[in-house]
Amino acid sequence: NIPTPHNQSLLSYLPNSKEAKKLKEECEKMRKEIPFEVPCIINGKEYKTGNIKEQLIPSDHKNVICKFHQVSEELVQEAVKGALEAKKKWEEMSFESRAAIFLKAADLVVGKYRYVMMAATMLGQGKNIWQAEIDCMAELADFLRFNLKYIEEIYSNQPKINSTAVWNRLEYRPLEGFVLAITPFNFTAIGGNLPTAPAMLGNVVLWKPSSTAIYSNYIFYKILQEAGLPAGVIQFVPGTGSMIGKILLKNKDLAGVHFTGSTAVFKHIWLESAKNTMSLYKSYPRIVGETGGKNFHFVHESALIDNLVNHTIRGAFEYQGQKCSATSRMYIPKTIWPEVKEKLIKEVSKIKMGQSDDPTSFMSAVIDKNSFENIKKYINEAEKDESVELICGGKYDDSVGWFIEPTIYLTTNPKNKLMQEEIFGPILTIYIYEADKYEETLELCDQTSPYALTGAIFANDREAIDIAIKKLRQSAGNFYINEKSTGSIVGQQPFGGARGSGNNQKAGAITNLMNWCSPRSIKEGF
Ligand code: GLU
Repeated sequence: NIPTPHNQSLLSYLPNSKEAKKLKEECEKMRKEIPFEVPCIINGKEYKTGNIKEQLIPSDHKNVICKFHQVSEELVQEAVKGALEAKKKWEEMSFESRAAIFLKAADLVVGKYRYVMMAATMLGQGKNIWQAEIDCMAELADFLRFNLKYIEEIYSNQPKINSTAVWNRLEYRPLEGFVLAITPFNFTAIGGNLPTAPAMLGNVVLWKPSSTAIYSNYIFYKILQEAGLPAGVIQFVPGTGSMIGKILLKNKDLAGVHFTGSTAVFKHIWLESAKNTMSLYKSYPRIVGETGGKNFHFVHESALIDNLVNHTIRGAFEYQGQKCSATSRMYIPKTIWPEVKEKLIKEVSKIKMGQSDDPTSFMSAVIDKNSFENIKKYINEAEKDESVELICGGKYDDSVGWFIEPTIYLTTNPKNKLMQEEIFGPILTIYIYEADKYEETLELCDQTSPYALTGAIFANDREAIDIAIKKLRQSAGNFYINEKSTGSIVGQQPFGGARGSGNNQKAGAITNLMNWCSPRSIKEGF
């Protein structure tokens, strides 16, 4: 049996602790050694195409963390060929042998490579120590370990009715063809999960990592190699999404896409793959995507205010609001607003923003110039909008890094774009409602955004909680009660949502993994 997984425990990184010192040394070493050079890796071979792009340090963007070689069209074709060749042995390998590779990789992630993975995620993706620790250390290892256990459960799910004359069984075959994994910058763990989950079930994968998370993703790829992943099973193909997508979505051997990223790109993948279904592909492709969010905290009068404020600051501003699950709209009854406002402003004023490898930083910079400009646009427009009032923050500065202050707005228009559109930055917008309009406002919240990823109800009154659970039934794939909208844990809260947030296949769960196999029913008579 696959060893029973447990959520990886976290370290405290208290000042002067052994782990804090080690991590500091690793970050300093990395800063001295940058820029690193990252090749494409196809059939186990490194390719330096010379078509180079840079990954910058978001909080210190004059510095390049790595220069990476972008894949060429020919190499993408080569990668497909090699993957299909590698598939022959890979799918024949026993599940135990495949599993051992990923279990070993999990061990390397939390052990030998822990600090280098963390330093790469902190410097390259702008995470502070704790955000990096929960991501590229704990969640990544959890994905690897829990997925294997879930696959074991899938394999053991067999027909219950047999007889002395008939033996029925299910064979969980991998898909016919290859899977394309397209991964985001904001979680190194998701970078690792999307290619490995299909591979665990015997599939071969082309992995297109995010251009703003290349270095940490590359280190993880090297970990997989060290753990014994055979050449060609996962191909590391950094480069432009549009070029890679265009070629691969038109490939007859495409069997599935495992995606996390923007809603617009996922819609494009969905439409393109639909066009090629049956005329080109052998089977209906498995398209799995987790995309945007406009996640809410809905507050009832009975909420415990200190808890609400603490969770809201964390949900909205940790990792600069760049989680798909980040809290970005909030509904508060008028009666408690003055107290909540005072406490929010006080807490925001304590937030320290700085270099991602500075252990005193609660926040750091947003990921890149595009993101900075996009968030800035919302701030500039809000300034001119009469239905919007700035509560705190609202300043930005990109002279050293792409820094945006934690910002809170109030709006009198519950359908304002700040309440509907995903901004992917540290901006929270609040709508105040009359306390006796609780149910109507829940309905308003439910119908406001095109997304349905995460949301939370804050209340102490059980009846109010029950009403919210009912009224907000379809507005969040992950629903929290008196807990922030972020921070799902593998094995505890399977993650994903519907509407514009994806097709809700739940990362780190059986529902997701079932996409990567094509079961065959076998009946044998005696
Ligand atoms: N699972 C993460 C959370 O609950 C978010 C993942 C994402 O941003 O895609 O906060």
